[in-house]
Amino acid sequence: MTATPDSPSRPEPTRSLTTTMPVVTMIGGGQLARMTHQAAIALGQTLRVLAADTDEPAAQVSPDVVLGSHNDLDALRRAATGAHALTFDHEGVPTEHLEVLQREGVAVLPPPQALIHAQDKIVMRKRLGELGAPMPKFAEITSVDDIVTAREHLGWPFVLKAARGGYDGRGVWIVEDADELAGIVADQLGRDVPLLAEEKVEWRRELSAMVARSPFGQGASWPVVETVQRDGQCSVVIAPAPDLPVDVSAAAEQLALRIAGELGVVGVMAVELFETRTGELIVNELAMRPHNSGHWGMDGARTGQFEQHLRAVLDYPLGDTTPLAPVTVMANVLGAPEAPAMSMDERLHHLFARMPDVHVHLYGKGERKDRKIGHVNVLGDPSGSLDDAAYVAAVRERAERAAHWLAHAQWTDGWNEHTGEKR
Ligand code: ADP
Repeated sequence: MTATPDSPSRPEPTRSLTTTMPVVTMIGGGQLARMTHQAAIALGQTLRVLAADTDEPAAQVSPDVVLGSHNDLDALRRAATGAHALTFDHEGVPTEHLEVLQREGVAVLPPPQALIHAQDKIVMRKRLGELGAPMPKFAEITSVDDIVTAREHLGWPFVLKAARGGYDGRGVWIVEDADELAGIVADQLGRDVPLLAEEKVEWRRELSAMVARSPFGQGASWPVVETVQRDGQCSVVIAPAPDLPVDVSAAAEQLALRIAGELGVVGVMAVELFETRTGELIVNELAMRPHNSGHWGMDGARTGQFEQHLRAVLDYPLGDTTPLAPVTVMANVLGAPEAPAMSMDERLHHLFARMPDVHVHLYGKGERKDRKIGHVNVLGDPSGSLDDAAYVAAVRERAERAAHWLAHAQWTDGWNEHTGEKR
């Protein structure tokens, strides 16, 4: 068609791009799904989420929400209809439902045969043992009497764990009093919670090796990071982990990639590790989904975990994982005991006024004590070095100060946000 001043050309109608782009369904509407949705937008997609409620973090932002429970096969089926891949923001989906979906032709990624190793710590320990991965000694606890055998085999005190359903340290007990321990075991077994006992590792710090794997078999790994927990919950991540010998770090990345390959993982996976006082690395557990230890990469790596997860489940070539700064520190915004009177909006104003370089990620969640309501990422200055402890400590201090401010509306160094002076 030719255009004249009187008849302006109209573009030919085209098919909407969004209808030709793949649909990924994520089971669970939490912050991990919300941030995966954010990455999906950049790839020209929207993430479909199966959420229990419309105010869940991902349900607030996705235009494609299926309401229902992850325990309900019909809800899972509805969420899977027409999707190119079905994946997870948490590991709690019954594998028997996922196997049904697989048989019906749904691309469940990671497949339930892999996911089970992130759901059940006994299955994980047995399988990783077969693969020769370094692990604490462990024993299944099926009766109170098993405590005595475990005590002889593992030493004392040992760590008691719920094999399934625990998270953020809930479901982990380190109890020195034998009677108290017997009470916990009887109580948990009475509720049909499978238990295992593990040797208590004398660790120096906790680390995480995060990798991605695609169905094609491509693998990618980020540098190993240090994770700091507060009351069993991740509070800070330092990426890369300082003071980690290059060969140890490379071996951890290789181990994580090997585990992903052997178990048939598709998507991202975190291998949580203990570094012992003598410098050995020991596997704690696996997470087969985006993980708190990978949040730093949203701003601190060329490709972050959320985009990488989408690339992996869609079998796209994986992204470059190179860090963008000598160190990036992630600090979780953990709800204060009482929500501050100052609104989050005003807290953000003051934070940006003081620290214009801080990257903020808020999850749209209500404030509650210790609840993960967001995180911040702070990238170190490019001129610094990971080997410089004072530089790393300063970046960490800024990240923790920013996160604490957002949660508590209090500056940890007594800064007065109105006068710009220390109180
Ligand atoms: P969850 O699944 O709830 O995250 P984890 O198995 O990761 O539980 O354990 C939570 C925390 O308990 C770990 O981060 C670590 O600090 C501690 N822990 C777990 N297992 C051991 C162990 N075998 N030895 C020493 N500490 C442990």
